[in-house]
Amino acid sequence: MVKKTIKTEPKSWQEYNQRYMDIYHPPLLPMPDIPVASHHGAYMVKRRFDVHTGVDLFTCEGSDVFSIEEGEIVAIRKFTGNEAGTDFWENTMAIDIEGKTGTICYGEIEPSSSLKVGDTVKGGQFIGKVKRVLKEYKGKATSMLHVAIHRHGLKYLLKDQNDPDMESFYDLQLDPTMLLIQLKNKADLKMLKITGQIREVNY
Ligand SMILES: [Zn+2]
Repeated sequence: MVKKTIKTEPKSWQEYNQRYMDIYHPPLLPMPDIPVASHHGAYMVKRRFDVHTGVDLFTCEGSDVFSIEEGEIVAIRKFTGNEAGTDFWENTMAIDIEGKTGTICYGEIEPSSSLKVGDTVKGGQFIGKVKRVLKEYKGKATSMLHVAIHRHGLKYLLKDQNDPDMESFYDLQLDPTMLLIQLKNKADLKMLKITGQIREVNY
């Protein structure tokens, strides 16, 4: 086996981070706060009609959505609305991108028309825009990006989540909360750099 030689060692924490840790990208910029615990947008929270298998990032309709990691588009599908069997919600779509982490679902969006199934997307690439999901404003946020991560291929994602015998379905879900908190930190730092409030520090 031929060992790969890396010629130069990292000289700063930014270089360390870039070389070893710069895998994930914030799906929104700026990133809103991440719902946790019993919040209705949190992971695995039991709601009126379902158990929530993702995390909702509440933000304005039309916000740009970026791919968290590099991967292959395995589906572009109807996510909510009459054609998705949830009449009480607006029509929205989802993109599922399979990468190293699993299949990441970006739901309640309008996918970019230039993308198709089978395409490879880079981490941080624009993939669509947040779309309104609640029909009426009754005090709750009407638009959000729904992020879910699945351990395996798409076929599991498309199974009936409300089937009580589908216990194993939930075992196959990954909790995206920690990753999204990490990406919020990253997005906050990025925003500070964009607005010129912090400078690069070398040590
Ligand atoms: Zn959701």
